[in-house]
Amino acid sequence: MSELSLLAVHAHPDDESITMGGTLARYSAEGVRTTLVTATRGEVGEILDKELDPKEAAPRLASIREQELRSAVKILGVSELVFLGYEDSGMAGLPRNRDKQVFWQADEDEAVGRLIEVVRRVRPQVMTTYNEVGGYGHPDHINTHRIAVGAFYSAHDTKRFPGGESWRPSKLYYSAFPRSVIAEFGEAIKRAGLADRFSRDGDEEPPFAVADDRVTTRLDISPYLDKKLAAMRAHRTQIPEDSWFIEIYKAMGPTAWNREYYERARSSVEAPTPEDDLFAGLR
Ligand SMILES: [Zn+2]
Repeated sequence: MSELSLLAVHAHPDDESITMGGTLARYSAEGVRTTLVTATRGEVGEILDKELDPKEAAPRLASIREQELRSAVKILGVSELVFLGYEDSGMAGLPRNRDKQVFWQADEDEAVGRLIEVVRRVRPQVMTTYNEVGGYGHPDHINTHRIAVGAFYSAHDTKRFPGGESWRPSKLYYSAFPRSVIAEFGEAIKRAGLADRFSRDGDEEPPFAVADDRVTTRLDISPYLDKKLAAMRAHRTQIPEDSWFIEIYKAMGPTAWNREYYERARSSVEAPTPEDDLFAGLR
């Protein structure tokens, strides 16, 4: 068996720590080669760090967020960070979505090709990304899903994508936020009197809710919870101390962030369902 390798494909700095910081920390600690690809530098995100003047910081947000991400991956022990080099498209519906340099407008083959270069170099058995709605519908997350799926299925095809040695990853995962866990969060939010970021229009469930029966893989990342929290906090412009992400942790304790969930979208190896290891069937 060749070296175990995990490739995580994300849209913006902070997505990796929130959705799978514990996963990255765990596999890095186990000696798996871990590679994080981030499509954009999140340059149109919010600036919530109170030590920054938003007006002054906005023009240099790309480099601020790049630094934050570099700190986070250091904490998590990630082997390599790769920026795909696109610009943040902004939330759905903004005129910026149509600007030609943003990720949403990227030529699909060109973007898939950039990711395939990474796939062929780091030869992951396991790839992770978001599901078909991009988790919650941000254009960059939807596009991240598309190009990650494209690279997963086409990295072997050296005719269509020349350059480098053919590689076929074995397992493809989508990060998931199961409905039942959202319900737990909802209860905790009510008990703690926190602002409810989940429900839209009353009781309707949030767009990122995934049916529990789609969830195949659950990782208890308790031993790495400190690293995950530290990595989240490294994204100071996005996750300040008074942010919802930290408040919910104070309200719920470890259970807020010590589990990470996935839907196994594709596997060419036999693996159990449920499973507690992304590399199940591969070692
Ligand atoms: Zn994002």
